[in-house]
Amino acid sequence: MSNLMSNPSALFYSQFCEENQGEMLATLRQAVELESPSDNKDALDRCGAYLAREFARRGAKVSMHRQEYAGDHLKAEFPGRDGAKPILLLGHFDTVWPLGTLEKMPFRVEGERAYGPGILDMKSGIVMMLFAMRALRSANEGTHRPVTVLLDTDEEIGSTTGRPLVEAEARNCEAVLVLEPAQTLDGHLKTARKGVGDYTLGVRGLAAHAGVDFEKGHSAIVELSRQILEVVKFTDIARGITVNPGFIHGGTRTNVIADEAFAKMDVRIARASDALELERKFRSLRPFDPECALEVAGGVNRPPMERTEGTVRLFRTAQEQGKKLGMALEEASTGGGSDGNFTAALGVPTLDGLGGVGEGAHAAHESILLKELPRRSALLACLIESL
Ligand SMILES: [Zn+2]
Repeated sequence: MSNLMSNPSALFYSQFCEENQGEMLATLRQAVELESPSDNKDALDRCGAYLAREFARRGAKVSMHRQEYAGDHLKAEFPGRDGAKPILLLGHFDTVWPLGTLEKMPFRVEGERAYGPGILDMKSGIVMMLFAMRALRSANEGTHRPVTVLLDTDEEIGSTTGRPLVEAEARNCEAVLVLEPAQTLDGHLKTARKGVGDYTLGVRGLAAHAGVDFEKGHSAIVELSRQILEVVKFTDIARGITVNPGFIHGGTRTNVIADEAFAKMDVRIARASDALELERKFRSLRPFDPECALEVAGGVNRPPMERTEGTVRLFRTAQEQGKKLGMALEEASTGGGSDGNFTAALGVPTLDGLGGVGEGAHAAHESILLKELPRRSALLACLIESL
């Protein structure tokens, strides 16, 4: 408490967020109960309309970026007191959960936690944005820098339509604060993320009757199996490179030598420069059976968020602000990607993992620690004000 007493604005934000905890939780409940899977435009747009109203109620100028198939992306702009460069608060409101998930995984509060689909990844982060902005505006008529909130709707499926928007906004910004979940229950902030990609390795062989013409066949399945054993050698844990053949498909029946098979693989890299090398390795695969043909498609689609000086500076600032609130914040790196990867790759200082603290993102026990909801909102307010 002594820290807080000597920091009147931190004390104000902290009290404001504590006092508004009930409303924060009610807002979160609404957001979670408006299910919003990445592939359902109608559902996404319903959730987006709710969030748009909430941001508008807090004094933001809200615009929806219309999409034909994806959900409309949401931008909310809060004016600043002077002409300084804006701060970008970044997030997404799509989730990995299909419509109807609420029936078996309802929003609920149990003990110290709240549960529900998308609560950690990342609807709690969006609620933190809302209440941090409210706290800032009720303390001092807004912030010195303008604040732009950008929430896209296809982050969980690669941000195909969100990416250009995210990049265009980030280019003009002083810093990007990403409200994705914190790393682990300790609430670590994320200063580095791996780059992410997908490869598909297809094999075309030659079909034949497994009993009558065995020698005439060239099995795509056998060839693919041998290729997979090559591809997994690209993994280099020490350098942060992983290749995971996560899905394979091939053949038709047991008595037919398969003429087609393919594998889909997730790849992760820690350094941007490793993308080219990985690409070269995939492209230089050659068939063991010369009668089989290989086809390689894909590549890295999210560059890594490397731990740059700008990001470390942002983290140190967050750490100092956290101290005022009695929080001991550490930094961490993760193999998971986010839209922060795109902004960091542009050279804009980006700090990630400022959102909900919990566990089970993308899993049935997805949950957040309730006490962190007001604390992290206050942290965000302090951080915005200090930049
Ligand atoms: Zn997320």
